[in-house]
Amino acid sequence: MTRPAPTCDPAVATLIEWFAADGADFPWRRTRDRYAVLVAEVQLQSTQVARVVPYFEAWMDRWPSACALAAAPLADVLGVWQGLGYPRRARNLHLAARQICASGWPEDDRLTELPGVGPYTAAAIRCFADGAPVLPHDTNVARVLARRFPDGWPGTPDGAGWAVGQAFMDLGRAWCTARAPRCESGCPLRSGCRAADAGLVLEVTPPRRRQSRFAGSFRQRRGFLLRELTADGAVPIDRDVEAAASLVADGLARAVGAELMLPERP
Ligand code: SF4
Repeated sequence: MTRPAPTCDPAVATLIEWFAADGADFPWRRTRDRYAVLVAEVQLQSTQVARVVPYFEAWMDRWPSACALAAAPLADVLGVWQGLGYPRRARNLHLAARQICASGWPEDDRLTELPGVGPYTAAAIRCFADGAPVLPHDTNVARVLARRFPDGWPGTPDGAGWAVGQAFMDLGRAWCTARAPRCESGCPLRSGCRAADAGLVLEVTPPRRRQSRFAGSFRQRRGFLLRELTADGAVPIDRDVEAAASLVADGLARAVGAELMLPERP
């Protein structure tokens, strides 16, 4: 258990102690392996935690290392990903695993050179695998910071990078939520929260992009086409020209004559 230093900001110390006592247990929190953290972070992008757990466990059972994933055919990777949505993430994860397996991990400040790894995921690898004192900034973290630390983050104590980062994830997901913050229902940071004191919690919340409906959407059509492609290896482009063009643009398929194929098929 990480214990805060005596000089630590009181709110930060409270956050660390609260997480040590009440932090959620997820399979990706039982490892500090960079590859496992990368898999979890990519799966968690745009997908709820509860849905990700069985996918993460199945994925790690099947491909426990970057080199194991690198050796897998793309069709298998896309097949196992089915149901998580946004399959471009799987394609990028596969490409990243190949890069890592062939050349090793990039330097810390060049993690974003891996396919599909942006500043958030790079920071998450540093924080959740390496324990570095960096806060991966997603919408949850941005919201908690805006509400509870409007003067800026007071600083992460030595050795507490992982615990602080995970505590922020729990707090933002289950307590300091966008629409129903639990300020008066046991929030560990209620004491000293000026937004809650002033009744301005929702007002200081950064705006969030709305996600469009899936049923009947273009995303759904793309999903249908990719599922067929993964199962059959090839489909006629005119089955859905627009969706086919989108899959090609995302590197998930290629056009060969009048057919759509997976990028790796001969
Ligand atoms: S008191 Fe409310 S606004 Fe402040 S950190 Fe807790 S849940 Fe968020």
